Amino acid sequence: MHGSNPTQSTLGILGGGQLAKMMVLAGTPLGVRFRIVDPVADACAGQIAPLLAIGWDALDALEPFAREIDAATFDFENVPAQTAAWLTAHTRVAPNALSLKTAQDRVLEKTLFRECGLPTTEFADVATRADLDAALARIGAPAILKTRREGYDGKGQFRIKALADADAAWQALGAQAAARGLILEGFVAFDFEASVIAVRNTAGEFRAWPVTRNWHVDGILSASLAPAVRGGEIDTAAFAHARAIAEKLDYVGVFALELFVQDGKLLGNEMAPRVHNSGHWTIEGAVTSQFENHVRAVLGMPLGDTSARFPSCMLNWIGELPNRDAMLAIPGTHWHDYGKSPRPGRKVGHATVCAPDAATLATRLEQVGRALGREAQVAPVIEALTG
Ligand code: AMP
Repeated sequence: MHGSNPTQSTLGILGGGQLAKMMVLAGTPLGVRFRIVDPVADACAGQIAPLLAIGWDALDALEPFAREIDAATFDFENVPAQTAAWLTAHTRVAPNALSLKTAQDRVLEKTLFRECGLPTTEFADVATRADLDAALARIGAPAILKTRREGYDGKGQFRIKALADADAAWQALGAQAAARGLILEGFVAFDFEASVIAVRNTAGEFRAWPVTRNWHVDGILSASLAPAVRGGEIDTAAFAHARAIAEKLDYVGVFALELFVQDGKLLGNEMAPRVHNSGHWTIEGAVTSQFENHVRAVLGMPLGDTSARFPSCMLNWIGELPNRDAMLAIPGTHWHDYGKSPRPGRKVGHATVCAPDAATLATRLEQVGRALGREAQVAPVIEALTG
């Protein structure tokens, strides 16, 4: 609540993972206080801000939290709709319920993209085995069957290489059709994957960071490079799409649009209604980070400059952290340990490498790859920088 200082606000965050933690780190210098809610008592943002450990459906327990805050936001998009609706009745919530609902569902998301002029691959809603056959007859193979809701990091997906794989696909995912819905998508033979991180504040001011190029391993983001492309055509197109989508949803806060780039053209894959892993490079690589601008946007402050300061590459640490000090001995490197215990497939930290120019960034990445034994992780980024 507002104290004696009218510029001091308290922001509530639903979800206490590393995204919440980085919001707290970015918002604290602005004079913002934070309160976190998470069902897991030792969620890592609780290391630096007060954390209330309650289940998402414990609406009574949310009451004191709602009283303490000026606005609420999310580090996690799958907060149940009724929890978000309850909070909306008690405090200002950003992004809004329509944005969350749309971004939680791949069919609504792709329908919105098309309405806003962003092309997507062919897709079909699949509720039954007969729907799958009809969708495959229309879209053809290769294709991907995915859950409509609650899929992330490549989970809940089945790649259909040939029409004969329909049985196997239904065996893998058919049981989820009732609870989560399914979507069949035409397979995109993309040249590369990219994302645009954008932000809109309560006054309707809009900004976007330079487009980021992304590499995934086993469906999980492995590396991000920004700015992704020389020459501004892809940036200009991506910014226009992001702006149209933000205005249509009356979106407030940071969001990410994940894109496929094919022959210089953009296709929309999905959107994340929150700060995003592919925007972590903005902490050191941009004038204002995604985390600071998200806090500014939801609390009604003016937005900061989203220009890149340096060519930057973010490397995700999945499962366990590599040798910190071996990396920090290399110039231009920045370390982020989320304070989570190691576990296979878990995002436990990241690092960002910055350099004054692309050639120096490639050299530094080579050094990082050798020093950490991560040559395979940096190799595609070096190839993109030098190729
Ligand atoms: P998603 O959960 O939709 O982000 O999918 C995870 C990853 O699978 C993406 O980052 C892509 O590498 C790949 N992928 C998803 N959808 C498609 C598609 N329609 N065509 C080709 N690759 C895809």
